[in-house]
Amino acid sequence: MKEFDTIIIGAGTAGLTAAIYAQRAGLRCVVLEGTLYGGQITNTPDVENYPALEKVSGFDFAMSLYNQATSFGAVVEMEEVTGVSLEGETKTVKTPSEEYQAKTVILANGAKRRKLGVPGEEEFSGKGVSYCATCDGAFYRGRDVAIVGGGNTALEDALYLADNCKTVHLVHRRDSFRASQVVVDSVLRRENIVVHYDSAVQSILGDTQVKTVVLENKKTGETQDLAVDGVFVAVGMVPDNAMFAPVQLDETGYIVAQEDCKTNVPGVFVAGDTRTKFLRQLVTAAADGAVAATQAANFLRI
Ligand code: NAP
Repeated sequence: MKEFDTIIIGAGTAGLTAAIYAQRAGLRCVVLEGTLYGGQITNTPDVENYPALEKVSGFDFAMSLYNQATSFGAVVEMEEVTGVSLEGETKTVKTPSEEYQAKTVILANGAKRRKLGVPGEEEFSGKGVSYCATCDGAFYRGRDVAIVGGGNTALEDALYLADNCKTVHLVHRRDSFRASQVVVDSVLRRENIVVHYDSAVQSILGDTQVKTVVLENKKTGETQDLAVDGVFVAVGMVPDNAMFAPVQLDETGYIVAQEDCKTNVPGVFVAGDTRTKFLRQLVTAAADGAVAATQAANFLRI
């Protein structure tokens, strides 16, 4: 069993920023991460909207944040959290190999990629179906691919794929995008991106690899087969917070908290995409990390 002042769950932008603020406030903290440190931003080719950083790759941003947090003494353990006990004065967080205890916990576990839930998606996952264009896009150089979604992730991924692929079919279920206008304009200017509005993926077909994506036009009901070698899914995120009961969740599974990052459980704070919030961006994740760690420090002083 290891004891800390605060346990931070998740080493994305929110969690690592919380670690910087916690260490600088004199708290001994551990950050627990089940996959890769850096979180979602590691999948973003270019970050252009973080103040004072005109352009940086998501990977470099994550590396720099990790180095900054560990330089202040934060301990980052690559261990998946398998259980928690958050009530009472001492909180316990379990991983397969260790048990951690602290008087405060910061939940910064982010959210997971949403699946489409159509026939063929599961079967061809890793055989043409991908959830990460920056990880897998290079495999499709000179080939035809589809990307599904209408948010910033899908449109930025479409631009990234368009640099390498012959044709990128952008499939969106409505006739307008929710991505930033500057990104929408860039997509519409690209000659090798074909936009399929009002279109839903009906199924993904192939043999050992993806060969076809079947689209249904939601207005006309017509179906269309697109010959593609890859299908990238970028239809948003879903939270994964059931484990944290009795922490209160909203009806969609996000942890209920205001800008003070306090949950309904004393000593338990929340930062980043995993909480209810208006804007899920790097800058708001970082801001949450700072707030949550400062709240944890204040909680321990009282
Ligand atoms: P998002 O903004 O929630 O967009 C998800 C998109 O997928 C929406 O267009 C949605 O359609 C569509 N969708 C959802 N479920 C679907 C389904 N079952 N079938 C087909 N389409 C479906 O998610 P995101 O793009 O991953 O972005 C997540 C957050 O990160 C956002 O706040 C975003 O702004 C932010 N982000 C920012 C940047 C940046 O600033 N550089 C980059 C990436 C992400 P509808 O539009 O019809 O709902």
